[in-house]
Amino acid sequence: MNSLLAAGYKSRSQIARIVTENWAACNLYCAACERSCVQQSANNARAIDFICEDCKAGYQLKSGERWNEHRIPDAGYNAMVNAIRSDKVPNLLIMQYTAGWRVRNLLLVPSFFFTESCVQKRDPLSASARRAGWIGCNILLSAISPEGKIRLVADEIAMDPSSVRREYKRLTPIANLKVAVRGWALNVLRMVHKVERSQFAIEDIYGFEEELSVLYPGNRNIRPKIRQQLQVLRDIGLIEFLGRGNYRLRNG
Ligand SMILES: [Zn+2]
Repeated sequence: MNSLLAAGYKSRSQIARIVTENWAACNLYCAACERSCVQQSANNARAIDFICEDCKAGYQLKSGERWNEHRIPDAGYNAMVNAIRSDKVPNLLIMQYTAGWRVRNLLLVPSFFFTESCVQKRDPLSASARRAGWIGCNILLSAISPEGKIRLVADEIAMDPSSVRREYKRLTPIANLKVAVRGWALNVLRMVHKVERSQFAIEDIYGFEEELSVLYPGNRNIRPKIRQQLQVLRDIGLIEFLGRGNYRLRNG
């Protein structure tokens, strides 16, 4: 850091950018295939983007010293919602570094885990702002199921890339679902986790009927939809049917 200061980089955010870019260039690998490095692409001020030259998976890296596991600011609200609807969201990497610039935590959210219910609209920028009226958004990490938050680094300990890739691969059937079905399936999966038991009954999920009807105000058939989505989650291997309306969450 002292050498960076000597080189004329004065602000902490400038240094953070250099440190995280360099770390990523040396350490970041593709979780979607076996490629051991990813290529930095277009430079934009808000986030750093990388692409895998083999499988073309895109990654966006956001970093900060403070770690908020619930919410992370993102770009424009409309742009994000459109990206979700057209299935064009990159994989998101969220990095927390220490005061001494070491990587403390690194979380990967696969691109196909983003749904409209995890995008929170922010207040429009005030009339005096340079981009007055512009509406940004937050990504609600708390609205993403635990499966969709893959740890690459936890408390300064790097996970084995092969286990990261195995986790990612296990989830890829979700990417093959149509966007509208995927949103429902992921929301039902999130409710399954809210039960906080690996075995659960259909009635447990019916208990979230109200919450789901807030997310889908036009839908009057929430219970049949829940049953249908549990089948979808079974077909892609995330839950098991035990019979008589009982289910089990599969962990890897
Ligand atoms: Zn790849």
